[in-house]
Amino acid sequence: MAKVLVIADIKLGVLKSSTAELLSKARAIGAETAVLAIGSDIESLIPDLVNAGSDTQYIADDPGLELFSAGPYASCVVDAANQFNANLIWFGFSESGKAAAPRVAAQLSAACATEITDVEIEGGKIKVTRPAIANKVMQKILVNTEQLVAVVRAGAFEAKEGIKGTQNIVKLAAPEPDLKAVIKELVSDASGEIDLADADVVISVGRGARDQAGVDLVKELASDLKAGFGSSRAMVDGGFMAHNKQVGQTGKIVAPTLYIAIGISGAIQHLAGMNGSKVILAVNKDPEAPIFNVADYGIVGDLFEVVPILREQIKKIKS
Ligand SMILES: Cc1cc2nc3c(=O)[nH]c(=O)nc-3n(C[C@H](O)[C@H](O)[C@H](O)COP(=O)(O)OP(=O)(O)OC[C@H]3O[C@@H](n4cnc5c(N)ncnc54)[C@H](O)[C@@H]3O)c2cc1C
Repeated sequence: MAKVLVIADIKLGVLKSSTAELLSKARAIGAETAVLAIGSDIESLIPDLVNAGSDTQYIADDPGLELFSAGPYASCVVDAANQFNANLIWFGFSESGKAAAPRVAAQLSAACATEITDVEIEGGKIKVTRPAIANKVMQKILVNTEQLVAVVRAGAFEAKEGIKGTQNIVKLAAPEPDLKAVIKELVSDASGEIDLADADVVISVGRGARDQAGVDLVKELASDLKAGFGSSRAMVDGGFMAHNKQVGQTGKIVAPTLYIAIGISGAIQHLAGMNGSKVILAVNKDPEAPIFNVADYGIVGDLFEVVPILREQIKKIKS
């Protein structure tokens, strides 16, 4: 029987939904499940870890683990993986997951795959699917090692309702501190804007908005909907948006419930960052724009006319 260890994604003391998504997938492939939570003062999260669908909870709780540091974090994962005898070790899609996964794989002499979108067990062997060549193709990989460390692409798996695990807590010893790299402080986005990775709704603006006035118009719609405000690379290169707002192959990968692309053509590199979104709405004046190939809903029109109408309608619905 496969044994899956999911590394809990905890942000500012809150367990993120990706943890339940990964645990649901582990159960769907018939695996035994465990979760590892790393941080400081995190015992209060144990009920959430059980409710997310884990049958064993490894807890690495130490003041030295308050801020993410790849070395000690990887040591905790290796410790839990060895104790659980895990053959699949899954991280959610986060910067910390991407930083720790290869270290864990190296220490365990395991295979490592990033951005996986599916996992199967075939004849006792692990098989994963992941995008390749800028998302142009999906690659199926048969893993030749017994253990695989993987980073799961945002939105790849869905959390099943009504799944509940069982409580079985294993406390881990604090790892050695990493003296080569000491994280002193984490500075969050000073703008105070909603983080794209956390947003349930993301609105992105593209070159169709032309200039700062166009960007500001779309941004107002984003603030009406309390949405994360993102961008295509064209608007970043044009100096209208910061790079941390870029969605796509060389930007952020998002998978919100609703993604609204406004004045964005839908280049393959942009799609690479948002095509896992649950519902996609596109506004573009060109009916042939490739974004409409991935959109669930499309509005063909001039964004300078469409956005004010959308804002007005949203205001009406809200009141
Ligand atoms: C290696 C590499 C990596 C890249 N990484 C990324 C990435 O991470 N993210 C990314 O986004 N791009 C990336 N790109 C760039 C990508 O190829 C496209 O150039 C870019 O996404 C285009 O941005 P856009 O859709 O805003 O602009 P355009 O392609 O110029 O599209 C603008 C769209 O706006 C529409 N439009 C114009 N006026 C209006 C109007 N008034 N109302 C409504 N619609 C209007 C047009 O019909 C058009 O479809 C990358 C490219 C390379 C080579």
